[in-house]
Amino acid sequence: MKRVTSVRRHPKQGPLLTQAKGLMRQFGLKARKGLGQHFLIDETVLQLIVSAAGLTRDDVIVEIGPGLGVLTRELARRAGQVIAVEIDNKLAAILRQALAPVNNVSIINGDILNIDPADLSPELAEKLPAATGRLFRYKVVANLPYYITSPALRHLLEATVRPELMVVMVQKEVAETIAARPGKMSLLSVSVQLYGEPYIVGLVPARCFYPEPEVDSAILRINVYRQPPVAAENAPGFFRLVRAGFSAARKQIVNSLALGLGLPRAEVSPLLEAAGIALQRRAETLTIDEWIRLWQASARPGEPAC
Ligand code: SAM
Repeated sequence: MKRVTSVRRHPKQGPLLTQAKGLMRQFGLKARKGLGQHFLIDETVLQLIVSAAGLTRDDVIVEIGPGLGVLTRELARRAGQVIAVEIDNKLAAILRQALAPVNNVSIINGDILNIDPADLSPELAEKLPAATGRLFRYKVVANLPYYITSPALRHLLEATVRPELMVVMVQKEVAETIAARPGKMSLLSVSVQLYGEPYIVGLVPARCFYPEPEVDSAILRINVYRQPPVAAENAPGFFRLVRAGFSAARKQIVNSLALGLGLPRAEVSPLLEAAGIALQRRAETLTIDEWIRLWQASARPGEPAC
């Protein structure tokens, strides 16, 4: 974690709360908690998110879950184009109408988990490089619904066309897990850190949302690598190994791997030795580089490692 800014001010009856309540009253909306609808009502947090994204007019932004559009408007003010994907039909229709005069926003009504980022806009798709795995320039900025945090991050980071940067609001504990350092690593931190460098930009108390969730949040910035160290076609094999390593995370790595891979210890020990990893270590202490070395050591002759 490089930098933490705590947001202490209480949004009280601030303008964003008044605006959210007004829109909900006007359109007879009730926040659908099942869809993670906790709307941002704090101006300071809003500015923290957009400044963490370092927006310029050259940027194409994919926003997940625009909701009542508070972040969408701010993004549209600073970026070149905003494509906002909203699952809630009613919210998407209201937003499409409300943002009709803003000519650099498109609202897509759909589930982000079923949308390939490469398909989001025909104009953008045209700009795609022919080669798969190459970086297509877009940023993801979102106040993510909690219930899809991990699948949404994986969906985008493992996409053929990955974002160059992600600035996402997630549950505080999840942000801490994702940004963990060796000693506190987990399957989730490895699955994000293989693709980019995460750090926590700021902690956001529950009172900054309406309705107030039961947990605090954090703004997480992920600088996505141009080229992940494990090629896309090898990622399933790599993660099979990592999952096996974390299958009994409290055990020594030699035992958890043997258990997870269904192999005798005698077969696992030489792999760890070849990767320069002591057998007694715990999975949570391994660095990304060590997981990669272990994956390379475990690839059979003739099989591509990375
Ligand atoms: N961006 C708004 C804000 O900051 O006030 C709303 C954020 S709210 C935490 C999450 C939004 O994501 C809701 O509008 C919800 O309907 C939407 N959402 C939930 N699941 C989604 C999914 N699978 N795909 C796209 N949008 C989704």
